[in-house]
Amino acid sequence: MKSPSNRLNELRKLAATLETPAATRIARLQQAGEHAERFLESLPKRDVYGAAGPREAAMAAFAIPQHPEPFDEALQVLDQYVDGIGHNLGSSRFFAYIPSGGLHDSAVADYLAAVSNRYGGVGAAAPGAARLEHTMLRWLADVVGYPDTAEGDLTSGGSMAALSAVVAAREANKIRSSDVPSAVVYLTTHTHHTFRKALHVAGLGECVIREIPLDASMRMDCDRLQESIRVDQNAGLRPWLIGASAGTTDTGSVDALDRVADIAAESNVWMHVDAAYGGAFALCEEGRRRLKGIERSDSMILDPHKGFFLPCGIGVVLVRDGHKLFDAYHARGAYMQDVAGDKERSPCDYSAELTRPSRALRFWLPFKVHGSQAFAAALEEKLLLAQHFYENCENIEGIELGPVPDLSIVTFRFCPVSTDADVATRALLEAIRRDGRVFLTSTTIAGQFTIRMAILTYHTHLEDVDLALKVIKECTAQIEAGGRNDK
Ligand SMILES: *Cc1c(COP(=O)(O)O)cnc(C)c1O
Repeated sequence: MKSPSNRLNELRKLAATLETPAATRIARLQQAGEHAERFLESLPKRDVYGAAGPREAAMAAFAIPQHPEPFDEALQVLDQYVDGIGHNLGSSRFFAYIPSGGLHDSAVADYLAAVSNRYGGVGAAAPGAARLEHTMLRWLADVVGYPDTAEGDLTSGGSMAALSAVVAAREANKIRSSDVPSAVVYLTTHTHHTFRKALHVAGLGECVIREIPLDASMRMDCDRLQESIRVDQNAGLRPWLIGASAGTTDTGSVDALDRVADIAAESNVWMHVDAAYGGAFALCEEGRRRLKGIERSDSMILDPHKGFFLPCGIGVVLVRDGHKLFDAYHARGAYMQDVAGDKERSPCDYSAELTRPSRALRFWLPFKVHGSQAFAAALEEKLLLAQHFYENCENIEGIELGPVPDLSIVTFRFCPVSTDADVATRALLEAIRRDGRVFLTSTTIAGQFTIRMAILTYHTHLEDVDLALKVIKECTAQIEAGGRNDK
């Protein structure tokens, strides 16, 4: 037999670079740490939105080399073509969409989790990681007031969490494909679009969708919900799912969850709550008060990469009767028979995923080193800052405010006497963009162009919100003066 040893030796030599020696590992970690510090230190001075530069240059810089290239060159590529380009989510002056904090401890945790590379899907493969994950889910279930029966899963984000909840609801309600055309789902125009997407992905896109009108506070009109369910039941349809919101992305409004829970209970409909943005507020007393009733839902989602200030990449689904999540997802392959009798809880039994990173560490470490009290305080602070913004915006001439904020989003329009309000509000957002000191975005509410002020990063404080007020005041005055000069 011909010996493979020459080729083996050759291949081994070529691949040897993959075995990074200890001294190099330590040096790279040091370099990466310094790189990270430079970025973090630059953040307060950076524009909230960084321009991208030419695409071709970036794509060329990213090209995969055949041979090793220096580590510091890679960091330079990141510095020049990735970091700081686009939204700087970690900026204290980022008031757009839903801000995401990016706690540093989470980044360190991701590093540690990747280094020890625990197999996050199966309990027997990584009992410690599985228990850590279970601890975080249990803790969060307690925070939102779910009972001991609750189960959950750490997902990559809110969209996947919503998909998981919808599938659990579908299975628990035994909605088969032939049932879909007569099965009715209730939501509002402000129910997050990813909930509809989840229905679509779960094969439920052809359910009857009832868009329940919003009341003046931008919450689901519960009288209409109740009426709509009654009418559908009488018509022989099958109401089965309500998509309520605990903090819509548009206005931050929280549906009357207690009332929705009453209606869901009396009509035997699954109540799902999208608390991707708002759920974290359950950590502080004032937030808990505003989310009252959420504990009566059948399922909910939360996004720790929003309200718990973690970097992007973590969502949570919780299901009140945990076995319903288990029943929707438990599955095993023959090759897994060696761990069949293992009693350790396995994340894959509650998830569409098998192999996945151990996500608990990035969630646990920040709470471990800062304590939950710091998070509760930061969240209560955001509620107060939104109130402060609302009250002070009222004094800016021409500003017309949306509803009193349920959480930490305030909506407003610019309605000077002389100009069309839509035109003026667009002009105001454009002026704020050009000014660049703060970053806000818009939405459309009942056909009207509306600006949103979303306050959610941990390092946004009173001076940042006051700066936003100052910018708005200056920009509105400028537009008014410009309008006068045109005449
Ligand atoms: C962000 C958000 C989602 C979607 O979550 P992702 O983490 O972006 O997938 C769903 N609902 C609400 C209310 C949100 O704010």
